[in-house]
Amino acid sequence: QPVVGVLALQGDVAEHLEAFERIGVSALPVRRPEELAAVDGLVLPGGESTTMTRLLENFELFEPLRQRLRDGMPAYGSCAGMVLLAGSVLDDRSDDRGGAGVRPLGALDVVVRRNAFGRQVDSFEADLEFAGIEGEPLHAVFIRSPVVEKAGSGVAVLAEVPERSSQDSAPGSGTGTIVAVRQGPVLATAFHPELVDGDDRVHRLFVRVIHESGAGETRDTTPARAE
Ligand code: GLN
Repeated sequence: QPVVGVLALQGDVAEHLEAFERIGVSALPVRRPEELAAVDGLVLPGGESTTMTRLLENFELFEPLRQRLRDGMPAYGSCAGMVLLAGSVLDDRSDDRGGAGVRPLGALDVVVRRNAFGRQVDSFEADLEFAGIEGEPLHAVFIRSPVVEKAGSGVAVLAEVPERSSQDSAPGSGTGTIVAVRQGPVLATAFHPELVDGDDRVHRLFVRVIHESGAGETRDTTPARAE
């Protein structure tokens, strides 16, 4: 079984830890480089991406984290976590200063716009089709959420918020606003599955991504392996 870390500098850390506990997967808070080195995958939670940028630097985690992502560590970012994983960041439409205050980690080949749904609809909820998640639509909670404005060709679009005129558009059809993506071992959602009680399907998906990447497979036989 893999050990999942949750970046625990700021944001909804406890909710992510609880989701993994519910599905029987070990999860640990990560605040220090040694803790980062000991996990097989990392969740970057929702919160404030400018604050988390500053704390990543203050805790001397930014470079070790960027390096582990380069080395292929699986990661999952929700909301602010999606902003941090991006290749580049734009600010909300009314005040486009190029994502000032956020230093993205560059783990996803996407351009992300922060606070993209604007002041009128700071927060909303929607039921979404999500590629790779079976069963009923996923109930998604958006809070001052980012969107993926541009995705590179290696990025799979997993979910979109349909435009008003195309309610029945399929994920990836290019007619909606992109709110969930995956590129190799890196997953991101603009919304907060950790805030929806009783539905841990996105957390289960991330555990599958970790297994697919091969991370953690040798943990039982070589617990003291070198990183
Ligand atoms: N607006 C926040 C940011 O850009 C994200 C909000 C959230 O994580 N709920 O960092």
